[in-house]
Amino acid sequence: MKSGYQDLIIIGINQVGLKRGRLEKMDDQEQSLGQKELREGVLDAHLCVGCGACAYLCPYQVIYKDQTIILHDCDLKQGRCYAFCPRTPTDYDAARRRLFDEKDLTPELGPVKGFYIARAKSKADRKKAQHGGTVSALMALALEEGIIDTAVVAEGEADFLHHSVAVNDPKEVKKRGKSKFIVSPTVAQFNKAAAGEAQKIGVVATPCQAQAFAKMRMKPIAGKESNIDKLQLVIGLFCGWALNWRSFTELLSRSTPLKTITGMDKPPGTQTVEIFTKSGTISLSVDDIDKCVREACRYCIDSTAEFADISVGSARLPESWDETKTWNQVIVRSESGQRLMERARAKGILEFHDVPEGNFAELKKAAVEKKKGALGQIIKKSGDSNNLIYLDRNDPVVKAMMG
Ligand SMILES: Cc1cc2nc3c(=O)[nH]c(=O)nc-3n(C[C@H](O)[C@H](O)[C@H](O)COP(=O)(O)OP(=O)(O)OC[C@H]3O[C@@H](n4cnc5c(N)ncnc54)[C@H](O)[C@@H]3O)c2cc1C
Ligand code: SF4
Ligand code: SF4
Repeated sequence: MKSGYQDLIIIGINQVGLKRGRLEKMDDQEQSLGQKELREGVLDAHLCVGCGACAYLCPYQVIYKDQTIILHDCDLKQGRCYAFCPRTPTDYDAARRRLFDEKDLTPELGPVKGFYIARAKSKADRKKAQHGGTVSALMALALEEGIIDTAVVAEGEADFLHHSVAVNDPKEVKKRGKSKFIVSPTVAQFNKAAAGEAQKIGVVATPCQAQAFAKMRMKPIAGKESNIDKLQLVIGLFCGWALNWRSFTELLSRSTPLKTITGMDKPPGTQTVEIFTKSGTISLSVDDIDKCVREACRYCIDSTAEFADISVGSARLPESWDETKTWNQVIVRSESGQRLMERARAKGILEFHDVPEGNFAELKKAAVEKKKGALGQIIKKSGDSNNLIYLDRNDPVVKAMMG
C-alpha cells in the first residue's frame, strides 16, 4: 500500500445526509460528527458490524458479547469513533484511489494484482485451518520475516463468543486458524495493541474490518492520531455474512450442546451449512441460518475484503469438496501483499494449483450479486434510491452496480 499521507484532508468522508465536507473545516455551526451521531446513525439503525473500530480509543464504547455498547456519553463534535466507523457515510472511492494502484482497480473485486489458488504446504498446518491454511501461513511468515512483530487474530471460544488477540509467535497464529462465524472485534484489539509496545502490526480482517482500517489510514481527523502507521499488513477474509450470536446459538442448541461443536462451513453450491461436532457432522438449512444473519451484513457490499493487502477465501475446483476445501482462492491487491506472496512462494511456504478456466469470472459474478443485493437492501431501508446511508451514490463502483 502507498504510505506517507502528507495531505490529511483528502478523506472525503461525507457529512450526514451525504453532503460532502472537509472535516478540518468544521466549525461550531456545522454538523457534529461524534458519539451521538454514531449512536443514532449506526447503532440504533442496526448498521453496526461489530468491528470494534470505535473501542479502546477512549473508554466510552466497549464490545460486549457481539454488540457495541456505549458506557458513557461524550459530547466531542469530532469523534474518532464516528470517523473510523465503516458504517458512517464514507467516500470509499477516495480511499481506494489513495491506498491502491489505480490501474489495478476493478468494480467487482476492488484492486487486483494477481489471482491464485494456493494452500499451506504443511499438511499439519492445514489441519488446524479452515480451508488451505493460506491465511495462517502468510501471517506466520510475516512474523518470521520481521515484516510484522505482532499479529492480531481471532480466538474461538466454546460459547461462540470469540475475541481477538495479539500474538508474537508464528506458532500462536497457526493455533488460531479456522473461521469464527460470529464477529470478533479485531479493530478494537488493533487499537489496544497499537497503543502498547507493538511497532509493526498485521491483522486478519473481515471486509468490514478492512474498511475500518482503510478509513483510519486516511487519517480523517488531523491531530488525532490512532497509531494507524503501525499497521503493516491486512490479510482479508472473503465474507458472505456473519451471524448474530444470540439467535445462532439458540438455533444450534436445539441440535447439539454448544460445547460439542468444533467448527462449521458452508460448502459452495449447496443449501446447507455443516456443523462439525465431536460425534459427527450436522447439516442445517441455509434458510434457518439466514434467519440468524446479523442485520448489518445485509447492507454490506464487500465480499472479498477489497481493502486488504491480500484476500483469501475458499476455492472452487472441479475436484471433490473434500479436496477443494483444502485450497484457497487468493487475491493479491497491494505491493506489500505481492512481496509477501512472492516470499511465500520462494520459501515453499505455499503450494499452488492451476486456476481453472472461468474461476475469476465466477468470483466476479458472486461479488456483483452481493453488491447488488446489499444496495437493494440499503435502498429498502432508507426508502430513497438517492440515500445509500453510508455509501456515496457517486462512487463509480456503486454507480456501476446500480446502472
Ligand atoms: C464470518 C466469515 C464469513 C466468511 N464467508 C466466506 C464466504 O462466504 N466465502 C468464502 O470463500 N470464504 C468465507 N470466509 C472465509 C473462509 O471461511 C476462510 O477464512 C478462508 O477461506 C481462509 O481459509 P484459511 O484456511 O486460509 O484460514 P485459516 O488459516 O484457518 O485462518 C483463518 C484466520 O481468520 C481469523 N478469523 C476467523 N474468524 C474471524 C473473524 N470472525 N473475524 C476476524 N478474523 C477471523 C482466524 O483467527 C485466523 O487467523 C468467511 C470467514 C468468516 C470469518
Ligand atoms: S466502529 Fe464498528 S463497532 Fe463501532 S459502531 Fe461502527 S461498526 Fe459498530
Ligand atoms: S458480511 Fe460484511 S458486514 Fe457482515 S461480517 Fe462480513 S464483511 Fe462484515
